Amino acid sequence: DREYIGFASLPDQIHRKTIKKGFEFTLMVAGESGLGKSTLVNTLFLADLYQDRVIPPVEERLTKTTAIQVRTADIEEMGIKLRLTIVDTPGFGDALNSEETCQALSDYIDVQFKKYFQDESGLHRKSIVDNRVHCCLYFIPPYGRGLRMLDVAAMRKLHKKVNLVPVIGKADSLTTAELSRFKSQVLQELKQYEIQIYQFPECDPDEDEAFKKQDKELKDAVPFAVSGSCQILEVNGRRFRGRIYPWGVVEVESPLHSDLQKLRSMLIETHLADLRDQTHEIHYEAFRSACITRLTH
Ligand code: GDP
Ligand code: MG
Repeated sequence: DREYIGFASLPDQIHRKTIKKGFEFTLMVAGESGLGKSTLVNTLFLADLYQDRVIPPVEERLTKTTAIQVRTADIEEMGIKLRLTIVDTPGFGDALNSEETCQALSDYIDVQFKKYFQDESGLHRKSIVDNRVHCCLYFIPPYGRGLRMLDVAAMRKLHKKVNLVPVIGKADSLTTAELSRFKSQVLQELKQYEIQIYQFPECDPDEDEAFKKQDKELKDAVPFAVSGSCQILEVNGRRFRGRIYPWGVVEVESPLHSDLQKLRSMLIETHLADLRDQTHEIHYEAFRSACITRLTH
């Protein structure tokens, strides 16, 4: 069993000072309801494992607005503190609803930027809590032939404000061949509609071959095909997260069945620092310069 989520590998990624005082990471999930967003979040962060952990106390704050739900958990792993915030969208079904929800998500991102902007120019600049959204997983439905206009509109609403990572939800409903076709279709359409997705940094040429290989596999997996499960199954004495079907069992963390493992290690182990950096240097910077332009004109 995986007992911890793995961000303790972060000292390699993030400055020691940040590590000591703890750091924040906010993940937003967007896309139509029923695509497995909440299940994936639980699978990624082992929410049910954390629930019965007494040390450290997990503080959970639930903010319910009409369209979005914000949950924060303080997690500590091997002496490293992480404040994880999940911004979820409980319901968005039809196109009209989608527009409203996307507006709410977009507003949420702006409000966090604005708070940061105010804090940055205030008296307590040293102790700013960074509630900016560092990454948004956009769930694309596995049925259909590619992106729907609704998905295009939603992603275009968000892509300039946040690191947008497209994922194909409930990927266990497609065969490997279907999935590979679907992925190229989606990639082609993302390009066609000029949707700006999160760009992985170039791999350092000095890295060793194993690292380069892993980095390439990660980039090649976009859009990540994921399936999640809250169910722990036990087969032949081995415990894993999976889904049961008449034809067999899907082990959601197995690289053979989904890109979940890749997505998780990208988010938590390898690219968390870069997601935070790009949020600050690209998305926040765009917001900030727009604010300053407005203030000075
Ligand atoms: P959300 O509305 O996007 O948050 O979706 P939920 O996580 O609530 O899941 C909706 C339904 O789909 C539930 O019945 C889940 O058990 C099921 N589900 C979630 N993830 C998967 C998946 O990866 N594959 C399949 N086949 N079903 C899933
Ligand atoms: Mg949900």
